[in-house]
Formats: sequence, C-alpha cells, structure tokens
Amino acid sequence: MSLIPDGEIVELDTGVYARLHEGLTNSGIIIGDDSVLVIDSLRMPSFARSLMEDVRKLTDKPVKYVIDTHSHWDHSWGNQEFPEAAIIGHENCYSEMVDVEWNEEWKNKILSSGDAWSDEANVVTITPPEITYQDSMRIYFGGREIILKYLGKAHTSGDTFIHLPKERIVFTGDVAQDGGVPYLGDSYPDEWLDTDDRMAELPVDRFVSGHGPVGDINALKTARDFIHSLVGSMKSAIADGKDSKTASDSVLTKLQGQYGNWRSFDRLGESLPAVYHKLIK
Ligand SMILES: [Zn+2]
Repeated sequence: MSLIPDGEIVELDTGVYARLHEGLTNSGIIIGDDSVLVIDSLRMPSFARSLMEDVRKLTDKPVKYVIDTHSHWDHSWGNQEFPEAAIIGHENCYSEMVDVEWNEEWKNKILSSGDAWSDEANVVTITPPEITYQDSMRIYFGGREIILKYLGKAHTSGDTFIHLPKERIVFTGDVAQDGGVPYLGDSYPDEWLDTDDRMAELPVDRFVSGHGPVGDINALKTARDFIHSLVGSMKSAIADGKDSKTASDSVLTKLQGQYGNWRSFDRLGESLPAVYHKLIK
C-alpha cells in the first residue's frame, strides 16, 4: 500500500512501518498512542507531503517527532513540512545541516542534475534538528522503546541508528543497504569500519535502510563486509604505492565478483578517488 508509484508500505510490527520507495529514499513511520514518529522527511517538500498523505492513510494522529538518520538532502530536505514536529538528529547531523557552503554545493548539484525535482531545491529551507544528542537517546513512544544510537562516523559524521530492541529492528539510514552500495562522497572510510562492527553487533533480526528493501541480519553483516573489503583493499593498494586511478581500479576489480550486481555498483568508481584521498592523508 502506498500512494506513490514504485512505493510500498511494509508493516514490520504493529504500528511500525517501512515506507519503501524503489530507486529513491525510504522512510519509517511509527504510530504511538496519540501521535506519529517519522524517520526521514525525504528529499523535497513535495516528497514530504506525499509521505504525509501515506501517513494519513494509516492514521489521523499528528506527527510529533521527525528523526533525521543523517543530514543528506534526500533524507532531510522535507523537514520544513513538519513545523509542528520536533526534529531530532545527532549533533554532527546538526553541524552538517548548518554548514551553508556544503549545502550550497549539494543544492547546485541537484539544480544541475536535471531530475524531476531539481527546481524544487530553490524552495527548500534547510531545517536542522532542534533536539540533538551525543551518544544515545531514548524515546518512550506508544509503549515502545526507541533508542537512537550514535556508533561513530561512517556514511557521514552524524549517522543515527534507530533501534527498536523489543521488535529487533534497526533503521540504518545510509550506513548499510541490503544489496546496494552506499554513497561514499561524504564518508569517513577509516572510522566506518569500527562503526560497522558495532552495527553488526546490534541485537536485531531486520533492518530498514535509507534505500532498497528491508534486509535481514545476514544482509546487515554483508553490508559491513562490503565496507571492510572496500576500505581494506584501498588501504593495501595505497600501501603498494598505487596512484589514485590504479588503486581505484584494483578496488573495483576486487569487489566486482561478490558485489558487482549490487545497486549503484556502477557508480562506485566515481567516489573511489575521494576514498583514496581520505585514506592517504
Ligand atoms: Zn546519505
């Protein structure tokens, strides 16, 4: 069920939904006793409004909380559509969202991309979290315990994991996907390894990624293995004295066999030079 084409709302537990949007960005919807918690407000105001239309199909309770899994535009630039809600994110997510220059670069990329939503970037008012946390935060919501966890830098400097311990579910943002390559351009490859190891220890059965399908624990561990393999092979190429291009090619060759059929693998080559330069310094 979903109003959008290529969209699907999956009920993971009573009142806990993943709203999957194939090829674009997912969100989460958790319904409490008298209000709703949304995970990620999506890429543009119109996408947030469409998300709200789907929420309205489930309940007429108001949205009280919006959690940003991280600062990236396709997850958080719909925040302005939730003026009545408290926006929550990690404090590094806040810092990234108030970094005017960095967001201006993203805006220019979006405006020049020619995508259907490009022009709408002009009407976005970037709305950072008003409640932030450092290590973890608990929300007791509709008789349910929701734990926001910071496990270290990874896909960005401020990735939040939203863990539902009783339901054994975690929302991972863009740190892990089931069968997809995360964007690496703003990443912290060295720290990502340890963050992923902590992520793989979470007591969960399923995870909802920012992109792609709902995955099981094995897929979560494979997502960790992918980052380990990528960063490990880039580090050994650097240790062998390879230049950026040769190192990036060797990493692609190394990963091709096991991960070549993953979503966005074809775009991985573009961001490997950035990973090289982050690891060599
Ligand atoms: Zn992202």
